Amino acid sequence: MNSDWDLAVVGAGVAGLTAARVAAEAGLRVVAYDRMTPGGQLVNLTTLHDVPEPGEVTSSAGLLGRLVAEAEAAGVTMSFAEVTRVRAGAAPRLETSEGEVGARAVVVATGLTAGRLGLPGEELLVGRGISTCAGCDGPLFRGRAVAVVGDDDWTAEEALELAEVATAVTVLVPGQPRWSGERVGRLAASARVEVLTGATVTALRGEGVLSGVVVATAGSERELAVDGLFPYVGRRGPGALVDGLPTDEAGRLRTEGGVRTAVPTVFVAGDARSAATGSVPSAGADGEAAGAAAVAMLRPAGGPGLRIVDPTFGVQPADSAAEAQAGGTADWSEVALFSNSKPNATELLRGVGERLQEHWELPELGFASKPNASAAADKDVIDWLSQRYKMVLVAVGD
Ligand SMILES: Cc1cc2nc3c(=O)[nH]c(=O)nc-3n(C[C@H](O)[C@H](O)[C@H](O)COP(=O)(O)OP(=O)(O)OC[C@H]3O[C@@H](n4cnc5c(N)ncnc54)[C@H](O)[C@@H]3O)c2cc1C
Repeated sequence: MNSDWDLAVVGAGVAGLTAARVAAEAGLRVVAYDRMTPGGQLVNLTTLHDVPEPGEVTSSAGLLGRLVAEAEAAGVTMSFAEVTRVRAGAAPRLETSEGEVGARAVVVATGLTAGRLGLPGEELLVGRGISTCAGCDGPLFRGRAVAVVGDDDWTAEEALELAEVATAVTVLVPGQPRWSGERVGRLAASARVEVLTGATVTALRGEGVLSGVVVATAGSERELAVDGLFPYVGRRGPGALVDGLPTDEAGRLRTEGGVRTAVPTVFVAGDARSAATGSVPSAGADGEAAGAAAVAMLRPAGGPGLRIVDPTFGVQPADSAAEAQAGGTADWSEVALFSNSKPNATELLRGVGERLQEHWELPELGFASKPNASAAADKDVIDWLSQRYKMVLVAVGD
């Protein structure tokens, strides 16, 4: 193995943090890159709607804190660097703002770019009236008029949040809204919200600071005086970040069904995936699937080479047929490794395991770990280790 990492995760939002945690819990050496702070879209949201179930709400900060803590406890290394290119292949290489690294597998979980209308002068007005974060910037528009552009459930929720501070919120829907019937009712019930369908913003007004937009609807055009504009359309996927992977019209990466791509070492999770539904629960489910797929790819059950037998992740010890395959002087069930989940301890055990495999021709090793460094070891796991193995090598790191 000649890689810096077993798994490199690009993007530490819901999908990336989940994929990284799942892979690290299975004993892989995992790095998660983010060009900003971890959390992705969660950083921009205060209340999450339809999380964990439709109709329920969750605190975004609470979920973010839990995802980061779980990933770190599992041993994920967080790196605050931008990944600028993924060279896919049997031995993927990543170009990052801090240099080049190798990984045996990659999960792309970059999400989408911020919403944009694609109009002249737009970038100059970002932060000067244009925002895509109602939770952060909404209070700046207390007592003022704003416009919101979009057609999905999250656009409706952002508009309703803004209506708590702004005097008027005009929701400009490019075609017809896709939001739920329940949201139709809540928008209609707000005296401060007006919804215009079939509405296109054709120009921005303002010198240095936004003062209005030009809106075209059904053949007519009108000026709308607003101090704030929140575009949730025009969001783009990671496009050409990964060599040779096809994209859809929004620049999201196409997969071969689920999170797998045409390149066996590359997986895509969350909003970056073509056909993603764009919600926190679906990003989490993608992350679980991508982490598990990376583990299965790097550590095929029953395949050649070292097989890790780990009771905490549901892998059953092999039957007697596996024992019959064992060569050398050691039986497969003689040696197990135990770590406290800290990366340096897991790294040490990995090295010891590889050498034992080589010298004693071990087809399998037992492996167990504490869920995190500060938790007590599970009694069932201690029993399993002591009853099943003649030798348990323990490494603890801090
Ligand atoms: C306004 C709005 C409101 C929403 N409200 C809800 C809601 O109430 N309920 C709900 O279920 N869903 C909601 N959603 C959808 C939900 O937030 C997303 O579907 C989900 O968070 C996507 O997670 P992700 O991990 O795929 O991507 P993201 O959360 O976008 O995370 C991607 C991460 O990748 C990083 N990154 C990108 N490119 C690179 C690179 N090249 N190198 C390194 N790092 C990189 C980014 O910095 C980011 O941290 C909302 C979305 C929006 C836009």
